[in-house]
Amino acid sequence: MSAACSRSSAPAVEGSNPGPTPTVERTSLGELPDIDTDALLAHVKELSSDRYAGRAPGTNGESLTVAYLVDHFRRLGLKPGNTDGTFTQKVPLVGITATGGPLALVKGGAKDKEARRLAWKDDVVAWTTRVAESAAIEASELVFVGYGVVAPEFGWDDYKGLDVKGKTLLMLINDPPIPDPDSPTELDARVFGGRAMTYYGRWTYKFEIAAEKGAAGALIIHETGPAGYPFTVVQGSNLGERFHLSTADKNMGRVAIEGWVEFDRARELLSWAGQDFDELKATAATRDFTPVSLGLAASLSLKNALRPVESRNVLARFEGRDPAVRDQLVIYTAHWDHLGIGPEVDGDRIYNGARDNAIGTASILEIARAYTKLPTPPRRSVLFLATTAEEQGLLGSEFYAHKPVYPLAKTVAVVNIDGLNVYGRTRDLVLIGAGASELDDYVRDAVGEQGRVVRPDPEPEKGLYYRSDHFPFAREGVPALNPEEGTDFVGKPSDFARRVRDQWTEHDYHKPSDVVKDDWDLKGAREDLKVFMAVGYRIAEADRLPEWRPGHEFKAKRDAMLAREAQPASREQTVNTR
Ligand SMILES: [Zn+2]
Repeated sequence: MSAACSRSSAPAVEGSNPGPTPTVERTSLGELPDIDTDALLAHVKELSSDRYAGRAPGTNGESLTVAYLVDHFRRLGLKPGNTDGTFTQKVPLVGITATGGPLALVKGGAKDKEARRLAWKDDVVAWTTRVAESAAIEASELVFVGYGVVAPEFGWDDYKGLDVKGKTLLMLINDPPIPDPDSPTELDARVFGGRAMTYYGRWTYKFEIAAEKGAAGALIIHETGPAGYPFTVVQGSNLGERFHLSTADKNMGRVAIEGWVEFDRARELLSWAGQDFDELKATAATRDFTPVSLGLAASLSLKNALRPVESRNVLARFEGRDPAVRDQLVIYTAHWDHLGIGPEVDGDRIYNGARDNAIGTASILEIARAYTKLPTPPRRSVLFLATTAEEQGLLGSEFYAHKPVYPLAKTVAVVNIDGLNVYGRTRDLVLIGAGASELDDYVRDAVGEQGRVVRPDPEPEKGLYYRSDHFPFAREGVPALNPEEGTDFVGKPSDFARRVRDQWTEHDYHKPSDVVKDDWDLKGAREDLKVFMAVGYRIAEADRLPEWRPGHEFKAKRDAMLAREAQPASREQTVNTR
């Protein structure tokens, strides 16, 4: 690669500071094998067909999906990805189907007692991760804790030392919105990431901190804007069987009751407690916020049907050519699971999950095929990892990241594919979490060869970087990419991208209507997949490993991991000890 020429023509990532691109001998994009989008579409049609019944973990849909993937990886000539000689990694899950009663609230003492109930499902959606036949909160004091965040790096503590053991926390979703003192109409990017959601904004964080604080229950007030999806998605994703990794402590360290309260009901509840939602929310966005006891005692009980399930990640290996580094891996991830059979919508109960994520799963099959067409394999090896139970909370990737088949220190990068562009060619590609690592430079270069540009996430407030399978790897320190379709469509009006995105979120995301549509145009997807193939290939060829940008929240973890790996003694112990 003649560094000078390509470098100068490479377009910049808007807003991020591109570091030095590692010097590698480079095969141009045009020389790399093409992606077969007919084969891709055939996979999607099969995997999202009613026969697979929405590919829920622990169902016949899982067996069909796993068999399909293993068969196709085997036909491509890839090696079993697990060191036990198989193409699967067992992932111990437990399915919990909760049947709940209303959220009963009592105000006042014996003389002036008042009671109200919020209906199960319609007003409150609650569950437990505890592997037990029942779970409950009983007359637990309800406390409004604002965003419920403890962030020392921002000098933020919503609890102010209050002991919330045994209490039930009422919380706001997303991050505290802090105005920029220099331009008050904007959010301050230095505090809680400004417009971008940080992990503190994620619902998973809210329940994690509530558990850390020893609370009995935690309920999030659902707001469509800050949550990023309507209440129907909360109902669709949390009612029916939910899976959790089965852990040694049976999740007894988690709060007994986790859940969401519908917005209008929450507003009414607060005014019944003599509070005003808007005022509370305004104070919650200040460092001086202190928790507010609502003078209400909350009770809710759940009966759980438990179903232990041994689900499977599917993994296939493409062996590298260089003995010195073929034990190092680039990993492509895509979750094969979806929501299975669920609440009926327009007479349909099968959540087919064509874009979420049959198309991503099909993508790693077709990228694997492209690797098999290379004249020579890259130096490092490549692992194709189709994960289970992503819809249940990134469980398959979380399990792999904690019980890796290959040491994470030997995992040089992860490229995650969750959803793909089905609307035609774009002049750009979106990078969720752009600016995090040198992986961006690989994407920028490859996209640049197509005459396209890389753009940052158009919806940073949705916290998409925390919502798919690359995240458990990133959190453990492995540089990870989560690309998304572009926003500038060729031959379409300028608002086309926003319109199709809103249409998707409102009508198809986590709905039975996420099926293959006649108007799908995969020309854009083909270009994106060529970029993903090239990025992985070039990292597998590179002299130097890609790193997180200086100061990035996961860099310290990576540096420590690589330092440990470099010590001769520790090398043998890194696999399967964690
Ligand atoms: Zn997905």
